[in-house]
Order: sequence, then structure tokens, then C-alpha cells
Amino acid sequence: MEVITTTIIIIILLRIEHRMSKKNILITGCAGFIGYHLTKYLAKNSNNHIIGIDNMFTGSIDNLKELKKLDNFEFIRHDVIFPIYIEVDEIYHLASPASPIYYQQTPIKTVKTNLLGTLNMLGLAKRMKCKILFTSTSEVYGNPNQHPQKEEYFGNVNPIGKRACYDEGKRIAETLMMDYKRQHNVKIKIVRIFNTYGPNMSYDDGRVVSNFIVQALRNNPISIYGDGNQTRSFCYIDDMIDGISAMMDTDLIITGPINLGNNQEISVVTLAEKIRSIIGSESEIIYKPLPEDDPVRRKPDLTLAANLLKWSPNIEIENGLKRTINYFKEIIC
Ligand code: NAD
Ligand code: UDP
Ligand code: UDP
Repeated sequence: MEVITTTIIIIILLRIEHRMSKKNILITGCAGFIGYHLTKYLAKNSNNHIIGIDNMFTGSIDNLKELKKLDNFEFIRHDVIFPIYIEVDEIYHLASPASPIYYQQTPIKTVKTNLLGTLNMLGLAKRMKCKILFTSTSEVYGNPNQHPQKEEYFGNVNPIGKRACYDEGKRIAETLMMDYKRQHNVKIKIVRIFNTYGPNMSYDDGRVVSNFIVQALRNNPISIYGDGNQTRSFCYIDDMIDGISAMMDTDLIITGPINLGNNQEISVVTLAEKIRSIIGSESEIIYKPLPEDDPVRRKPDLTLAANLLKWSPNIEIENGLKRTINYFKEIIC
């Protein structure tokens, strides 16, 4: 009996010791599209122990099932609007719905997630004296009057429109990040992410790339909002993960904000035609009303990321779309 008890104690101590020798990395929003890829990428290093937090609002059960297979991943179902006291060495704070249909469905929650969630993560980073990276968005530029958008541009945001819960939520979160740096010297990093796409987006997420691919694969009508002449610049997920990790890992003390994305600008109608042609789909194109405050043009100026992080995107849209289409073929056909 004594031998068994001693053995159990030794095993527990060894496990604690093993865990403590690792780098504990917190990823909020781990079950979402970017969180899933970031977790998989960071988990490749067996010295990392990943703690993933998600409230599963837009997170995917399938993504989570995959992550739970990883030896060095631990999941906590938690809502970041509430405080959490854990031990971590580094924080990637991603938790927030990102698709307009979802962030507008529960707008007050979207504000709370970005305001209170970011406050709590900053409190945690301050207590742990660790680095925190926040995924902001190109939406902080609103419907931009400057093109392409540089980080120094303050933006053109409607503070009372339907997109404001997200745009202003991200803007106040950036403010909090900067104030925790100025007042408490927290090691902060802000990246402004432009439209990103790839495998493991939810098929019903509502964003343009997943909508068009799923519609085209099913030979259903492709729904263009407005006249389709509005532009976006789409970044493939692998490039985005490289950019995010370059920002976290740079030796230089760079707080950002830094734009991350792809600067190959295309119109929504061209995107629809590309997707239809790659798939060889017979879908017709139909036009629906343009959502309120939908930005007319969007393209990042990536000079700062190239100079400071030595990072630029590599994956052309055709190549990225083919990879994404292959993923959706497997899950919906
Ligand atoms: P996503 O919706 O796929 O993932 C977000 C995750 O956060 C989901 O798993 C969701 O359940 C979780 N979440 C939401 N509210 C939460 C809360 N209160 N507590 C805990 N978890 C919560 O979105 P994504 O595309 O992976 O985006 C991740 C981050 O990147 C977001 O902060 C988003 O604003 C930012 N971003 C993404 C894009 C893009 O094109 N994908 C562009 C700009 C910015
Ligand atoms: N917080 C947290 N985890 C921590 C430390 C703080 O969730 O490990 C929360 C805390 O509850 C507070 C917020 O983060 O709501 C900001 O914390 P900070 O210490 O900066 O502010 P204070 O508690 O002094 O208002
Ligand atoms: N859009 C579209 N059809 C769709 C979904 C989106 O035409 O089925 C348009 C949308 O109005 C916007 C662009 O595609 O102009 C990108 O939308 P998304 O929701 O992906 O991201 P946003 O950049 O608006 O946050």
C-alpha cells in the first residue's frame, strides 16, 4: 500500500515538474478559426504547454475535438468577460466573434468581450508580468478615406452604427492595451488583422470566402451584397500565423499596432468569379442589399511589418482558395 502511495506521489510530482519546465501559453478564442491554427502551430513545439480558453460562441466543436488530441493542450471553457486567475508565461488574446452576422447578433456581448475580456487579460498579463498579444482588426479604420491603410491613419468609424460594437470594441481594447503599457509597463503587442481565410473556417460562419465556396460547391446561388465592386485583400491563414508569431517572438520591443494581411486587393465580384471558376460550379450570381456601413475599399500598407518583423505574405489568392476549397469539399460534399 505504502509503495503504491509513494509511486503515485512521485508520478504527480514528476508531472508538476514537467509542466513547470514548459512554457505555458494562453490562447483565448482557441476553438475559432485563427485560434485553432495558432494552437496547432504552437503545440508543435513540445516545450510549449497550451492553455486554450473559449466560451464556444462561434468556436467549432470539431476544431476543439482536434485540439484535444494534442498532448500539450489543455482546454478551459470560460468566458473572458469574467476574471480568471491562472499561471501563464505568454498570452495570445483572440477571443471575440469576427464575422459581422455573429458580432451584430449580440452586439452588447461583443462590446463586453472586447472591453471586459481585454481588461481581464491585461490584468492577468500585469499579474504574471508576461507578454500579451491582442488581435485587433482592419475594422478600426472603418470605411477608410486613406488607401491603402497605414497604421498611423486614425480611421473613419461610425460610432453608433451596427458595426460599432465590433469596431469601437476593438478600438477601446487597443486603448486599454496602450494604457496598460503606459501606466503599468505591461509588455503589449497589437496586430491589426485584415480579412483572413483558409481551412477550418466554419462553413456557416457568414464571411464572404466561406459563404461563396459553400454556395458554389452546392451549386446554390452566390450571394453578392451590394454591387460587388467593394474590395477586400485576403490573407491565407498560414501567412497570418507566421505574422502573428513573428510579432510575439521579435526581440525588439515592438508594441504595434502593426497591420498583418495581404495587399492583393480584389473586388467581391471578382472573388465570386474566381471561386466559381476554380470549382467549375454552375451557380448563378445573385445580388442582395449591402449591409450598413460596409467598407468600400480595404487594403493594408504592409511596410511596417516588412521592416520591423521581416514578414510578408507569400500565398497567392488562387493557391489559398484551392487549399480552402479542398477543405470544404471534404466537409460538406
Ligand atoms: P472566430 O469567430 O472563428 O473565433 C473567435 C473565437 O473566440 C471563437 O471560438 C469564440 O467562441 C471565441 N469567443 C468569442 N467571445 C468569447 C468570450 N467572451 N469568451 C471566450 N471566448 C470567446 O474568429 P477568428 O476569425 O478566429 O478571429 C479571431 C480573432 O482575430 C478575433 O479577435 C477577430 O476579431 C480577429 N480578426 C480576425 C479576422 C479574420 O479575418 N479572421 C480579421 C480581423 C481580426
Ligand atoms: N484579473 C484577472 N486575472 C488576473 C489578474 C486580474 O482576471 O490574474 C482581472 C481583474 O479581476 C480585474 C482586471 O483583470 O477585473 C484588471 O486587473 P487590474 O489588476 O489591472 O485592475 P484592478 O483589479 O486593480 O482594478
Ligand atoms: N459579402 C458578400 N456576400 C456574402 C458575404 C459577404 O458580398 O455572402 C461581402 C460583404 O458585404 C463585404 C465583403 O463581402 O463587402 C467581406 O465580408 P466579410 O463578412 O467576409 O468581412 P468584412 O470585411 O465585411 O468584415
